[in-house]
Amino acid sequence: MGWKHRATFTAMTEPTQIQVLDVQIDVVKKDIKNLHLAVYPPTGRVRIAAPQTLSDEAIRLFAITKLRWIKKHQKNFYEQLRELPREYISGESHYFDGRRYLLNVIERYGKHEIKIRNRKYLDLYVQPGTTREGKARVFNEFYRQHLKTVIPEILEKWEQKTKLKVQKWTVKKMQTQWGSCNIEKRHILLNLELAKKPRHCLEYVLVHEMTHFLVRHHNEQFQAHLDRFYPNWRAVKRELNMLPLHLV
Ligand SMILES: [Zn+2]
Repeated sequence: MGWKHRATFTAMTEPTQIQVLDVQIDVVKKDIKNLHLAVYPPTGRVRIAAPQTLSDEAIRLFAITKLRWIKKHQKNFYEQLRELPREYISGESHYFDGRRYLLNVIERYGKHEIKIRNRKYLDLYVQPGTTREGKARVFNEFYRQHLKTVIPEILEKWEQKTKLKVQKWTVKKMQTQWGSCNIEKRHILLNLELAKKPRHCLEYVLVHEMTHFLVRHHNEQFQAHLDRFYPNWRAVKRELNMLPLHLV
């Protein structure tokens, strides 16, 4: 499924991503006659297939004229996702460490815990009658423990690469940011939600925050440091921003 839009245009070269205001668009050049624009669920990813002969500037202009249409459909997808709150019942999908797992709820008397089984299932052990909020808390603790386990080694690696020292780091549930930092204290906050993401996302957020030790703002100088530390950062950033944070 996907919302398709067709326009009759003819014209240009090069496959990449373009950015039109705050919208990232994947551009694929093909042996076709017309431009095809599509917005895909669930994340609202935007893709334009364009004739090989069409210039990037023409594609950009086309995208600008379709921006309202793109945003309208992205909003629809986000709203569909919002209607799917986690119930913490067996069979539900949950993300952990960049993988999708199926939840299996097992009620029993004893300790609340989550065990990974066969790289496919998350077995959630809870007391009979545990509420949805109670189950969510077990998950949050599971995520927190995971991050506390993996961050030290990732941090060590990036401290060596960047020659920057982090004085303190904290994992926190945040609504709008993947990370933040106190430059003077060299203290980094990392969003608990990163436990759901692939490891490279966690690394990027960490390196991004460390780069603020050198440059406060997201200016060219900041980007130049990031290019040096983590050349692939733009792709990872895009991956992280595919969904508004509170929907992840
Ligand atoms: Zn930043």
